[in-house]
Amino acid sequence: MDTKLDPSRDDLPLMANTSHILVKHYVLDLDVDFESQIIEGTIVLFFESGNRFQKQSGSTKEPCRSESNEACRFRMPEPCHSPVTDTRTFSSKTRSNDFTICGKGEKDTSGKDGNHDNWEQASGISSSKYCCDTGNHGSEDFLLVLDCCDLSVLKVEEVDVAAVPGIEKLTRSPKLTVVSEELRNQIVCELVTLPADRWREQLDYYARCSQAPGCGELLFDTDTWSLQIRKTGAQTATDFPHAIRIRYSTKPQGRSVTWTSDQSGRPCVYTMGSPINNRALFPCQEPPVAMSTWQATVRAAASFVVLMSGENSAKPTQLREGCSSWHYYVTMPMPASTFTIAVGSWTEMKPETCSSNDLAAERSLSPSEADFRYVGICGHMEYPCRFQNPSATTQEIIPHRVFAPVCLKAACQETLLQLVPPCLSAAHRVLGTHPFSRLDILIVPGNFPSLGMASPHIIFLSQSVLTGNSHLCGTRLCHEIAHAWFGLAIGARDWTEEWLSEGFATHLEDVFWAKAQQLDPHEAQEQQELKACLRWCRLQDEVRNSPEEMQVLRNLLVPCLVSAGIMYWNIQQRLNQRFWLGSLNTLQRPNKEKTGHVSDSGSSVVKHGLNPEKVFMQVHYLKGYFLLRFLAQRLGDDTYFAFLRKFVHTFHGQLILSQDFLQMLLENIPEEKRLELSVENIFRDWLESSGIPQPLQRERQAGAECGLARQVSVEVEKWIRMNRRPRKRKRRETEQVFEKLLPDQLVLLLEHLLEQKTLNPRTLQSLERAYRLTQQDAEVRHRWCELIIKHKYTKAYKDVERFLQEDQAMGIYLYGELMVSEDSRQQQVARRCFELTKEQMDRSSAQVVAEMLF
Ligand SMILES: [Zn+2]
Repeated sequence: MDTKLDPSRDDLPLMANTSHILVKHYVLDLDVDFESQIIEGTIVLFFESGNRFQKQSGSTKEPCRSESNEACRFRMPEPCHSPVTDTRTFSSKTRSNDFTICGKGEKDTSGKDGNHDNWEQASGISSSKYCCDTGNHGSEDFLLVLDCCDLSVLKVEEVDVAAVPGIEKLTRSPKLTVVSEELRNQIVCELVTLPADRWREQLDYYARCSQAPGCGELLFDTDTWSLQIRKTGAQTATDFPHAIRIRYSTKPQGRSVTWTSDQSGRPCVYTMGSPINNRALFPCQEPPVAMSTWQATVRAAASFVVLMSGENSAKPTQLREGCSSWHYYVTMPMPASTFTIAVGSWTEMKPETCSSNDLAAERSLSPSEADFRYVGICGHMEYPCRFQNPSATTQEIIPHRVFAPVCLKAACQETLLQLVPPCLSAAHRVLGTHPFSRLDILIVPGNFPSLGMASPHIIFLSQSVLTGNSHLCGTRLCHEIAHAWFGLAIGARDWTEEWLSEGFATHLEDVFWAKAQQLDPHEAQEQQELKACLRWCRLQDEVRNSPEEMQVLRNLLVPCLVSAGIMYWNIQQRLNQRFWLGSLNTLQRPNKEKTGHVSDSGSSVVKHGLNPEKVFMQVHYLKGYFLLRFLAQRLGDDTYFAFLRKFVHTFHGQLILSQDFLQMLLENIPEEKRLELSVENIFRDWLESSGIPQPLQRERQAGAECGLARQVSVEVEKWIRMNRRPRKRKRRETEQVFEKLLPDQLVLLLEHLLEQKTLNPRTLQSLERAYRLTQQDAEVRHRWCELIIKHKYTKAYKDVERFLQEDQAMGIYLYGELMVSEDSRQQQVARRCFELTKEQMDRSSAQVVAEMLF
């Protein structure tokens, strides 16, 4: 039976048939209109047919450079690629009303990975539509399927790339006399495989081809999740036009971008890590295997700034009156889901005085043909890689810009601006070459549902990181910077291995931050141990309260690449377990069901990819972090980080599986240092087990020495004693001396105090005064709000209200706490705050909160 896919359901289907044809480059040409809340224009897609990437799956160790070049030299009239998959099989299967092909046992190219051999469970996507449509127009036509949702597609046409003046230089024939489909496809073939040192020429050709006239409209159809395109008579992917143009517009309710207003009240639009990725922004191939480059020209009213995933620091070009245009491009192929855009009236923030070390970094180091030479062989597909560019490899601080609404200027100058250079430099000292040539940082509107998000060349930070001292801002920035390596330059091949990006970024954030603060080794170790204490509490909490099958690191349900960019959910943003457990019952998820199955066509389903609560689980961040910490401790920091640099050098620009990392790690450790570690052990103990991993349990039980945590325990005792003291001896309170504590120590202190059954208002008041809690960072204030709610400290309800409005990046747990108390005054606070913010609130969060409240 035909299953109707419904956006309200949990699973996110990935429809693109990436096994048959791959987008190599997108050219976007868009107008942003804030009046109508519509983005419209064209997108031109350049394809390569065949399933070359499948050959790379698994460890992807073989360089594919020579292969792609050879295959694409002109050998007229042969097709430039012979697809490995028989596309006719696909077509006939399509007709037989079964969109997902169960080629059982076939093409299990990864071999080693258990997730790949369960084809029969594949996606379950089917659609009778294809059957009906193709029946009328010749059923053997190849069908291009793109991921697409909530877009109005107006026209699809083939692009006559042969009409571009000078394009014949790409072909062997001096003049293009007979223009045929085949010739056009060969031109595209030649274009997409130009060697990396001709990247500038390639971008230019792409741009000019994208403006070439059309040469025939193509048949298309849309359904909830996809756009299907056909050309009558084109029976295989090889015959299908390799350059097509789609004219379309977004819909205001489309879920890839959010139309809202910034903190200064001015309109803006931005991608905020939607669970449906970018498919409501442009039709694309979403699975991570479809790595492509892109360029985009975006026009908006001249008062707006357009920021985007692009390696050039674009400046606006004035067009007609009141309108300007921004152009960005990337030369490193990446999943289309990592593309990010933000358009708003933001101001570039600059330090009060221009410091000289920044000036040095401003020298643009975009890849140029002159300084481009091979330093070493990279394992990825060819592109102008910074790891091969000597001047790029030594660049500690990449050029960067910071944007924010003008009302946050002072806050940015106080904290963020000074932190960027030391954090970038720390990352370089730990991992080496920055994978991306430059960086924009944007303070996003208050409804952004996370503290930060990393995308190629752009980091979003929540306004919540600007409060308190620089600690939260610095650690969050370090975390997002770490994603440039883990999550972006090295992505997870499997949808279910989110720990590969989050675990690494969480572990590295501490390491970078210690270096950025220039801590001595002892201090660094102390601070990192304190963080481990906090995360250990959190992990125990989550493991106690989440169902067993949700705790398995490797098969966890939260695919990172499903969000546009890498969404980081703040480590403290705890799930409301009561609510979560309640809703889980309705998921009816069979045990052991796995996610991320990929059918023969390349389509798949991300289980629970649309479940709004999925993002509140943190087990995978925490377990991943503890695994990496465990490995670093076992091997010693020097050995571990030397290996990590080597790993980055080997795997950047590629997608990996857990075993790629573990195998290489163990291969690189001398036998005597392996200490009984094996890939199998690690999989068994850490990745495939639920609950607390045994080695971690042992380590924590042994009692890690942490002076900073001990200091907190002493303070906690003082507070507990004071709380017990009868009121009349009030004067002695003032004699009590409390130590000054670091922000993480304050968090730990408040967590300990949260375990107390009763704290009287007097104690709470002294607590607030002693540490000026309302002026601390959002992490500390979150704990403070929890205490207020727990002990019904009515005098401070205003602090909770402020938090729920200004710190939406962390706020939804508190809604749960306010509601479960069954205290009418607290429930009023929750309802009132939700009324004030729900219009602006992130959609998923709003959905979850609404269900809690009503
Ligand atoms: Zn490289």
